Amino acid sequence: MQEILDDIVATIGSSTERGRVADYIPELAGVNPQQFGICVATVDGQLFSAGHSQQLFSIQSISKVFSLTVALGKLGDGVWKWVGREPSGDPFNSIVQLEHEHGKPRNPFINAGAIAISDAILMKHLPREALAEILSFVRFIADDESICFDDKVAKSELETGERNRALAHFMAAYGIIKNPVDYVLGTYFHHCAIAMNCQQLARAGLFLAGDGRNPVTGVRVVSASRARRINSLMLMCGHYDGSGEFAFRVGLPGKSGVGGGILAIAPGHASIAVWSPGLDDVGNSKLGSQALERLVMKTGWSIFA
Ligand code: GLN
Repeated sequence: MQEILDDIVATIGSSTERGRVADYIPELAGVNPQQFGICVATVDGQLFSAGHSQQLFSIQSISKVFSLTVALGKLGDGVWKWVGREPSGDPFNSIVQLEHEHGKPRNPFINAGAIAISDAILMKHLPREALAEILSFVRFIADDESICFDDKVAKSELETGERNRALAHFMAAYGIIKNPVDYVLGTYFHHCAIAMNCQQLARAGLFLAGDGRNPVTGVRVVSASRARRINSLMLMCGHYDGSGEFAFRVGLPGKSGVGGGILAIAPGHASIAVWSPGLDDVGNSKLGSQALERLVMKTGWSIFA
């Protein structure tokens, strides 16, 4: 495995076609696009890393997997009153689909869906209480108390998030969002602003590779059927309108973020985190997807194998 990762860093990690770094906030626009990190956490407890695997980055939409898991823990199937379970085929911040579908987002991983999930988690609590719950969950699954929000990123998101604000107000108009919009967005922007490195992220995803149980600590996080369902949503919706292409090329459940990270799950084998800040046209890490394609080719981990 170490040889495979070293090869990926030497080939894909040094590519000159790196995509474009997200530039809607200065904290992301200023990230050096030359960085590339990867980490594989296997279900038998080994950790393999290469490149900038210890460099913190903004996990952004990858956090939507964790907020969904927290919401499922609180509400069970009640969550599906807020969001659907269908791929969107639209960009992550699209507004059009919401109107056609009466304010109910297609799935929990597009922006509208994750904003609705923040509303579900809030349930009349204050944003700091919902955020404490999400952060302590992430620390628990990664087994790492040092994981934190990047407050600068959260502040910038709040200052520039007019489109997300529009999505939230639109859903409030349809009665999907019931808490004050500011509370909901404060929760959403902060959980997107969690900073992690590839090693922490790979460890955090292990429960999804282990049928809902962290195979290293032995602690059950969710039931096996819930882990399968989260994985299926990641496969169908984790890369927005690039989800089909990712499933076709990589064949693993995965979730991307505009910070350039991807968390991919090889059920029964490993949890994989890769980070390269340059994005492709639909907002997914360009080299990250290529790296996962190569990793799967070498390991045979595709779920369709
Ligand atoms: N915080 C980002 C936003 O709301 C997350 C988007 C993403 O990672 N795709 O626009």
